[in-house]
This record gives sequence, structure tokens and C-alpha cells, in this order.
Amino acid sequence: MKSFHIITFGCQMNEHDSERMTGILEEQGCITSSVVEHADIVILNTCSIREKAEQKFYSELGRLKKLKDTRPGLKIAVAGCIAQQEGANILSRAPYVDMVFGPSDISRLPAMIERKRSWSLPVVDVAGDPDYHRKRIPTTRTDRLKAWVSIMYGCDNYCTYCVVPYLRGRERSRLPLEIVREVRELTRKGYKEVTLLGQNVNSYGKGLEEDTNFPSLLGMVNNVPDIERIRFVTSHPRDLSDGLIATLRDFPKVCESLHLPVQSGSNDILSAMNRRYTREVYLGKIKRLREAVPHITLTTDIIVGFPGEQERDFEMTMDLLEEVQYDGIFAFKYSKRPGTAALKHDGHLSDDIKEKRLAQVLDLQGKITSRNNEKLINSVQEVLVDGLSKKGVTLSGRTRGNKAVNFDAPAHLIGSLVMVRITAAGINSLTGQLCE
Ligand code: SAM
Ligand code: SF4
Repeated sequence: MKSFHIITFGCQMNEHDSERMTGILEEQGCITSSVVEHADIVILNTCSIREKAEQKFYSELGRLKKLKDTRPGLKIAVAGCIAQQEGANILSRAPYVDMVFGPSDISRLPAMIERKRSWSLPVVDVAGDPDYHRKRIPTTRTDRLKAWVSIMYGCDNYCTYCVVPYLRGRERSRLPLEIVREVRELTRKGYKEVTLLGQNVNSYGKGLEEDTNFPSLLGMVNNVPDIERIRFVTSHPRDLSDGLIATLRDFPKVCESLHLPVQSGSNDILSAMNRRYTREVYLGKIKRLREAVPHITLTTDIIVGFPGEQERDFEMTMDLLEEVQYDGIFAFKYSKRPGTAALKHDGHLSDDIKEKRLAQVLDLQGKITSRNNEKLINSVQEVLVDGLSKKGVTLSGRTRGNKAVNFDAPAHLIGSLVMVRITAAGINSLTGQLCE
């Protein structure tokens, strides 16, 4: 029996892919080792969305080499986006790597391990399985209440800064009945919340034979008894339809929270990014969303320092943050990625400018988030209790708007929906009192 340890970098998709690799390996009789030094196989599930993620992976690989020097029997596998991007090139930089496989090749993991057992050469499999989205993949989830469920893979959008379409392939949707079956199975295991995952969930259904779309999938999941909450990421603003806005308003289990990455507040930069919406169209959608769902929590992604971003473009982004008053943002410095169109754009900016702009957006957003959180003081929020707080003294949970709340309550409430009155607010979390 082999033991394995997975180190995951990057987004929720990678976290979920790691849950699938765990499921596949456990089905083969392998066991998880919580300590990397004790594992027979170490899998690095990598991310290449920004250069920094790539650097983190290579420094982890360096540490594993030292471990392998002391334990030559250790097998090192590289999975995920860097594996897809680099393929066999990883072996020229790190000849001690045993396996390289891409995100849509994980169902062949047992066969790869078997091949490696009888073969001294490294195994490289980044061909991509065209049927991956039709397969049922065993999954061992890390959380017992909240589950990620992939509804589609890949992306057809080709934003000029982004490697995802090159590494995760074209959009492919899973069948709606398969998704509903998975959600039903999760409720039988006690799961209360699902987050539907895809690079652009709003275009769910494209290419399927049956006539379906994302709002109708949400309707089907909403009808699954015993599921309490439904969330989804990520929505491309261009494809956010009035049908989806109505779904957020009308389906009781669909939480009032939306991540809608805008990237920039400047039309010139949005066009250079190939986002295919304007600031005005985006703001129009935010207005309609708030009319339909007044207390919706909104978050976004921002890239600062995209090639050609002038001071006035950046000011438009700052102005958009003021206008929308998001509850939170993820902000990134533009990072050059291999093979993407923006690499060839004029006007690449220095790291100093990017750093300065990043600090400015984070500072502004920090103030907005604090103000928004303070507005919740004295409100009563429905909270799904998911465990002990980080400090371990109180319980913690999430509001429907996905804000973290800490409060005193008996531990048997973990897994329940409770009502909590908010008594204090910080930038990262709220504090509350359980309502009797
Ligand atoms: N599919 C999602 C969408 O369109 O919004 C996001 C996927 S991507 C994994 C998450 C975020 O990473 C993007 O929204 C973008 O802000 C950021 N990102 C992607 N490529 C980047 C790059 N080259 N430099 C900096 N940030 C980047
Ligand atoms: Fe990347 Fe754009 Fe696709 Fe999102 S929509 S994954 S940012 S190409």
C-alpha cells in the first residue's frame, strides 16, 4: 500500500482537483499521509496564473529534491497548470521528477503510477482526456459541510493576460443530471452547501445536446431536498444575464452573493484585455442586480498595471471601486504569462508602478470593506456554522453573503443554520451573538 501527500497551489479548481486525485488514489488502496516526509508519492498540484505562483512551485520542488536525495524511493509528480504548460520541459529543469500530468489527465493517475512502477523513465501525460467531463471521478473532500462541484471545464474567452484557455482547454459542460446526482449524493453524506465551479459558469450548457443554461441548472440544484445553500464561481460579467439575476432573486437556496470580476474600470484597458464589456455595461448590470437583490454581497478581481495602463486608466479603476462599493476584492499586479497576447502589447509597466497602484487599491478597498461590514452591526444574519473560530474559542460560520462571523455557542450547533445578531465588525470578519 502506497502513501501519498498532495501540495496544492492556486484556486478552488485546483483544490477540487486535489480532492479528486485523493479520491482516485484512495480507491486504488493508497492512503493519505499528512506528513510530506512520510509519503511514498508527493504530488505538486500547480498553478501558473501568475509568475509568483510558478516561483512558489519551483522552490517547493527544490525542497522535495533534498528529500528525495535522502529517500531515493520517493516518487515526485507534477500536476495542474504548470504541468500542462511545461510538459516534458519540467524534466530538463528537474530530472528527478517521476510523473508530469495535466488537469484533464487525472483519471489516468492509477495507470501512470502502474507504468512508473514497471518503468524507470519518467511518465509524461498532458494529452488531455477528451471525455474527462463525462466521467464520474471519485472524490475525497476536505470539508464535511461545504462541497465544490465542477459544472464545466476550460474557458473560451481568451482574455489577453490569461493562460487558462491554453492550459485548461475549450469550454466543456458536464451533464445537468450528473451534476444533480452528485449534489444529491452530497446531501446524503450530510453536506449543506455546494459551490458550483467553472471558469465562466454563466456560459454553462454551451455545446451540450440538450437545451439548458446556467439559470436552469441552478433551478435543478435548488430543487434538491436537503441542500441548504448554493453558491457559484466564476461569473464573466459579459454573460451575466437577466435570467441569472432573476435566479438570484427568486431561488431561496441561491445565496445573495456574487463574485463578478471587473479587472479594470477603464474602457481602453477592458478592450485591450479583450473582456468584451464596457464599464457602463458592467455598472448597468450591477444596478439591475441591486434592484433585484438589494442586500447582495459583491466581490471582484482587479488587475493593476496592465500594459498601457495610464494614470487616468488607473484612476477610473479607483473610481469604479468607489462607485460599486464592493464587499471585497482580490487585486493582482499584472503578470506576464507565456503565450498570452498581452505579452506583445506596448507599454509594459515597471514593478514599482504596479506595486504602488496595488497598494492604493488595497488601501481604498480596505476602507470600503470596513464601512460595509460596520453597516451590518445590529442586523440579524442567517449563519451556517462550520466549525471553531481560528482562535478556537468560539464558533465560526458564514452569512448568506459569505461573510465570516465568530460567536459564542455550543459546539453541537456545528452544521446547523442559526440566526446571529451582529455586534461588531472588522475588516475580515464579524462578531455576533446567537439569537435565542
Ligand atoms: N475566470 C475568471 C474570470 O474571468 O474572472 C477568473 C479566473 S483567474 C484564475 C482569477 C483571476 O486571476 C482573474 O480574474 C484575474 O484577475 C487574475 N489574473 C489572471 N491572469 C492574470 C495575470 N496574467 N496577471 C495578473 N492577474 C491575473
Ligand atoms: Fe482567464 Fe478570462 Fe477565461 Fe477568466 S474568462 S479564465 S480571466 S480567459
